[in-house]
Formats: sequence, structure tokens, C-alpha cells
Amino acid sequence: MISQAIQWTCETNSKTARVSLWARIGWFSLFQMNLLAMTLMASFVFAQSEVEQRLDARRAFGYLEEICKLGSRPSASEGMTQQQELIVEHFTKLKANVSFQEFDTPHPKKGTPVRMRNLIVSWHPQAKERVLLCCHYDTRPFPDRDPFRPKGTFIGANDGASGVALFMEMGHSLPKLNPTYGVDMVFFDGEEFIFERDGGKYFLGSEYFSQQYRDRPPAHRYVCGVLVDMIGDKNLSIPQEKNSLKFAPELTRSIWETARALGIKEFVAKPKIEINDDHIPLNEIAKIPTTDLIDFDYPAWHTTKDKPSECSGTSLVKVARVLLTWLEQVPKEVGR
Ligand SMILES: [Zn+2]
Repeated sequence: MISQAIQWTCETNSKTARVSLWARIGWFSLFQMNLLAMTLMASFVFAQSEVEQRLDARRAFGYLEEICKLGSRPSASEGMTQQQELIVEHFTKLKANVSFQEFDTPHPKKGTPVRMRNLIVSWHPQAKERVLLCCHYDTRPFPDRDPFRPKGTFIGANDGASGVALFMEMGHSLPKLNPTYGVDMVFFDGEEFIFERDGGKYFLGSEYFSQQYRDRPPAHRYVCGVLVDMIGDKNLSIPQEKNSLKFAPELTRSIWETARALGIKEFVAKPKIEINDDHIPLNEIAKIPTTDLIDFDYPAWHTTKDKPSECSGTSLVKVARVLLTWLEQVPKEVGR
């Protein structure tokens, strides 16, 4: 808002009819304009600090711990059901609209139907143009990269709980946020309902969501999407993912630019790795330009060591700060 006000003042200044215009508005009006600009700037700073004040690293980490205490949370498990109850209760209290998108998929080993449930949390539901924030909330059934206990319990603190904890923390800021577009947080099920280390079908929830969006278009349109995955690492470093740069270059750059402006150095504005993740069906099937924020440099990946002790609330809050700031200033060229 303030950048527009300043821009307008500057543009007015550069007009060739400057003298007559200035004579007309007079110094008193100029003083009033400056006062208006300063007031707007002050309210902008206040709004910014309000967003920051609502973010709480300890609370965010508490959410991550709470989710991990439920144990492993693969699709259709008891842990998943408890997690769903926890998320629904959290966002209902914050006055968001919460709904499920359900479908059945054959169990990869038994062939029997398994109920999958994507969970959708909507803010500003009246907005017809929306941004999709998403993560997966199922955990891999087994820690199959663990050298000692590949059939042990997989908690998925970073690979699973981090995205959920991030959105739960952001939920405190969303009601007062003034985002460019409406916001949906979607928690995908079946991202890795995988029972073999090499093979199997990933991204069941995001694929179904994308097919539904393509085949039964809703009343709203997603301008763009941001996927988060493994963003709770205590040694956080998020380079630009190569598929994101291919499918959604403006969007990807705009998020890293927001991080740069905020001085959040964990967002490294360089392409590093190419990853298949839930953003692939969103880009390819739903045609929603979607970027993936992912820290893939995580030694505990798919092992029993992926626990809260490897994660940090400070990391979660840094990602939250970038996303909340970005949501209020999504550039026009993104998603067009
Ligand atoms: Zn995983």
C-alpha cells in the first residue's frame, strides 16, 4: 500500500506540467500528502511488526512436538486420524473454514481400498482468486533408509510434521493478514504411502486434488501455489528447486526476493537440486504454477533420527515470516 502511495508522489513529481500542478496543490497540500505518506508508512511498519509479533518460535516448535507425540502418521492410520482431529480443532478455533477431500486408493501391498483425506483450510473464502499453500501430512510407513532399524517407527518430525506446524503457527497471523489473494492451506495425504524403498506411487493426494481441479473446476481460481516440505531443519538452508524454476520462475524468484528483503539468509537464491514432489501434479495436471520450498540437505531423512531434536522453531518462524510477508505483496506477474 505504501509503495503505491510513494510511487504516485514520485510520478506526480516527474510530470512535465509540474510547475502548474504544484502551484495548484500548494505547499500546504504537499505537506498533507507527506503526512499521509508518513501515516501510511507507519501503519505499514505497524502491520509488519504485528505479523512478526504473532509468530512465536517456541509455540511453533510446540506444535511440531505435539504432532510427533502422536507417533507415526501414515495414511489411514490411528496416528493420522488423531492428527486430523488436532488440525481441525486448531483451525476451527482460529475461525478458518475446514473441509476434507476424500477418495479411495488400493493399498500398495494388499490391494484393499484405503481412504485418503486431503484436508483444506480456507481463509477469506469469498475471494475468487486464491493462493494455495500446501504440504504433505502423512508420514512414510517405515524409516527405510535407517541403517539399523529400517522397519522401526518413523516419526517424520521434519518430513511430515514441519509443514503442519508451520501452517498451524501461520494460522495465528492469517485472520488479521491483508493478503493479495484468498489463501487455502491444503494438507495432502498419500504423499509417500510407500512400502518399498525404491518404487511405488507417490503424490496420491496432490494428484487427486489436481485432477479434481482440472476436471471439476471450482468457483475459485488458484493464481499460484507454494509447497513446503522439510522446512523445520535446525540447520535450515532452502535453495531454489529446479523444477520450481522451470514451472514457476517468477513465483520462485519473488519468494526468494521477499526473503532477501527481510534479511533471511536461509533462503539461498541459487538453483541446487531437482526434486519430484507434490508440486509436480499441481504444475502438470492442475496447471497451477507451484514452487517447492524444500531443504533436502537433511541427514536424518527417512531414518528413525527424523525427530524434533533435529528441528527448530526458529526455522519454522523464518519460513512463516517470508510467506506471510509475501502473501501481502504477491507480484502481479506471478501466475498470469
Ligand atoms: Zn519423505
